[in-house]
Amino acid sequence: EQLEIVGFCEKIAHIFTETKNRFVHVDSIKKEIIAFTNREKIEQVIIILLDNAIKYSKGDVAIYIDQNDKGPIMISVEDEGIGIPKKDLPYVFDRFYRVDSSRSRETGGSGLGLSIARELLHSLGGKISITSEENKGTSVKVTL
Ligand code: ATP
Repeated sequence: EQLEIVGFCEKIAHIFTETKNRFVHVDSIKKEIIAFTNREKIEQVIIILLDNAIKYSKGDVAIYIDQNDKGPIMISVEDEGIGIPKKDLPYVFDRFYRVDSSRSRETGGSGLGLSIARELLHSLGGKISITSEENKGTSVKVTL
């Protein structure tokens, strides 16, 4: 199905800003970007990523949307939070994997969010990757 990604992300960002009291900034290289994808699945992915960004940071979070010509669409969710240690980074997409139970216990969660996000994206023929630096922040990039 056809989905206009920029407006769609803005809508989700607005809901987060209203209900979680955390500002979600949206920035895009173009005003409109059409994707042929499944709305529910993409929505679920973005919600998982925003939930994490908010859980593991204190400031604003951001969604950046990018596309070269009519090629792949990139959506990245970025925060300036606690980040992820280098040694844990390869495992965060594994089911039930959580970084350091002591820091994660306070925030709650099952360690399933990112593995679900990855499965959803694979079912759409998309990709997900993560870069992070401890005490600096995290960026999760989705490619459609
Ligand atoms: P949930 O299933 O509720 O999402 P979760 O956040 O523990 O729980 P995942 O979303 O799979 O599970 O994330 C796995 C682990 O990766 C988390 O426990 C957390 O330690 C780390 N992580 C994920 N996103 C971030 C982020 N934006 N900043 C810092 N750490 C993160």
